[in-house]
Amino acid sequence: MTEKVTIIGSGPAGWTAAIYAARAEMNPVVYEGAFNEENRQMGTLPLGQLSLTTEVENFPGFPAGDMTTYLDTSIQDDKRRYMAPHGKHGVSGPELMELMRQQAANFGTRIVTDDIVDIDTTQRPFKLKTLGGEEFTSHAIIIATGARANYLGLPSEDKFKNMGVSACAVCDGALPRFRNKPVVVVGGGDSAMEEATYLTKFASVVYIIHRRDSFRASRIMAERALSNHKIQVKWNSNIDEVLGDEKSGVTGVRIRSTTHPSKTEELDAVGYFCAIGHTPNTDFLKGQLKTNEKGYVVWTTPQRTYTSVDGIFAAGDVADDYFRQAITAAGTGCMAALDAERWLAAQGIE
Ligand code: NAP
Repeated sequence: MTEKVTIIGSGPAGWTAAIYAARAEMNPVVYEGAFNEENRQMGTLPLGQLSLTTEVENFPGFPAGDMTTYLDTSIQDDKRRYMAPHGKHGVSGPELMELMRQQAANFGTRIVTDDIVDIDTTQRPFKLKTLGGEEFTSHAIIIATGARANYLGLPSEDKFKNMGVSACAVCDGALPRFRNKPVVVVGGGDSAMEEATYLTKFASVVYIIHRRDSFRASRIMAERALSNHKIQVKWNSNIDEVLGDEKSGVTGVRIRSTTHPSKTEELDAVGYFCAIGHTPNTDFLKGQLKTNEKGYVVWTTPQRTYTSVDGIFAAGDVADDYFRQAITAAGTGCMAALDAERWLAAQGIE
């Protein structure tokens, strides 16, 4: 059987595309990714980056409050395995993703827990191959594989993820653990400036740890950060280790001078925000779609989710290195489903 539309990826873009495609009777299949150690290490497990965050306070429709009853009746029990402890919170990232997944399934979306490892774009319908070895064809494809945050790769970073280590200040910065306490931001680009400036709303002090003596960030962003009295910059410094314990999570960092490598310093901090860039998940495309200089899939037509290959559409962070929000990903997921529906109709594919 040839699929009408195959959606690759299981973040907000993928599930929103699936909800729209399923309601339009396109009988979509979602390849949500494989649960394996490689994906865990890379931060690319099913349900995407949101499944690695804690509370989500900025997705419209999910105000803070006790969501227990709603969640109890909305998601199957066996999907509660990721749940954050219930309490006075709106919805957690993992819960939000399970809700979207369930909503897509409710309309008949078929879900396959496997990775797509290869697409042959030279033949129509397109030929796809899974990690598990399955091969199939599809008339249209929506790429919604997202991006992954870059981390330094320290074991201590991994140990305290969700316990003070984050790569998204907008997602996590307002959490109670960071209120009126010192935090660190690693990086010297616009993201680091933006995250540091944002975090000053909540933290008592924000240390920017940067490996050189000048920022890569645009002048306006750098000046905004440097003029903020809550921000202190530790120039020419690398993170040696994130310090902490099982109970409290992050309690500080040890930094090492890049100019005098024997010189180290320990800083007290309850948060560690890594802002050294993101990498789009496009390896499986093997260069077959046009990407920008940073590797993100290019939308070839304004206000459309078309890519450089007719019949392949892109949605969410894999094609967006600028907004990178759950709600914008969901929005472009909707657009991709509508684009695919109209494209299939124009091809006369029922
Ligand atoms: P970026 O510009 O690539 O900057 C990454 C920063 O992380 C650099 O300062 C780099 O140091 C540092 N870094 C990278 N690897 C490191 C490592 N292993 N150890 C220590 N430091 C490391 O990435 P970005 O800040 O995420 O920005 C990405 C793009 O989005 C940019 O084009 C940016 O302008 C744009 N952006 C715009 C806005 C805005 O306008 N509001 C906000 C965010 C991002 P070096 O400088 O030494 O290389």
